Parts: sequence; C-alpha cells; structure tokens
Amino acid sequence: MKFRTGTLYTQKMAHLYGRATSSSCLWCHQPDSKIHMLSGCQSASIQKMVTEKHNIASRLIIKTFDKGNFGGNIIFIDIGGETRMAQQNLVLPAHVANRALPQWLMANLSADELRSCSRPDAICILPIGTKNGHKKAKKRK
Ligand SMILES: [Zn+2]
Repeated sequence: MKFRTGTLYTQKMAHLYGRATSSSCLWCHQPDSKIHMLSGCQSASIQKMVTEKHNIASRLIIKTFDKGNFGGNIIFIDIGGETRMAQQNLVLPAHVANRALPQWLMANLSADELRSCSRPDAICILPIGTKNGHKKAKKRK
C-alpha cells in the first residue's frame, strides 16, 4: 500500500530529508528506490525474505485451491519445504511432488536437471473438458 501511495520510506528519501548520509541501499549499497526495496535488491538476506514472502502467498493460494473441486489434481509444488507448509497448516497428499519436477513430465532431463531447472510454483492437471477449470456461470434473469 505504501508503494502505491508513494509513501514507502526508502534510503533515498531518508537521504533527501537529511536523515541519512547516503541514498544507497544499506544491504547491497546499490542506488535505493521503491522498486529496489521491493524486488530489486540483490542482497542474499533481502532475496531470502522476498522469496519467503512469495512462498507464503503461494501456500495460501494452494491451500485455497486444494479445498476446491480440483485440489486433488495438484501434482507438483515448489512453494517451500515441509516445515514451512506445516506452519501454514498445508498438508498435501503424498502423490504431490515437491521441488523436483516429476520425471515423467520431462523424461529427457536427468534427476539433477529436474532439480536445478526453472520450475513453476505449482502444476495442476485438469480433466479433459475443463479448459478454464470451471464452468461458466449461469446468467440470472
Ligand atoms: Zn539493496
């Protein structure tokens, strides 16, 4: 919200108001800005926090999705380890692969390549005929 309203207090603003000696990011020493603060900082600590924030939101989405009609169709997730999922009361069935893509999905890749390649947050396979995962809402008269 502070980002949207332009009130996110950055090191750049602190420097502008005379409250800091430098406008650079305190973590990585690169020029600070709102974008830098939210997703541009390359500091390992900040990157870890950004990733965890993303994973927390993803776990909430998967938890909600899991309760729906197609929850059983989730086959893969990459939204944090078992401990983190347990902290958000998210328990998925044993058939759901976590962090390593299922071998059958990309048979041409080795197990190491499957672990190290770019992965989506989750994969859900929908039954044939459910292109959008839901039926169109009926119009009320
Ligand atoms: Zn930084």
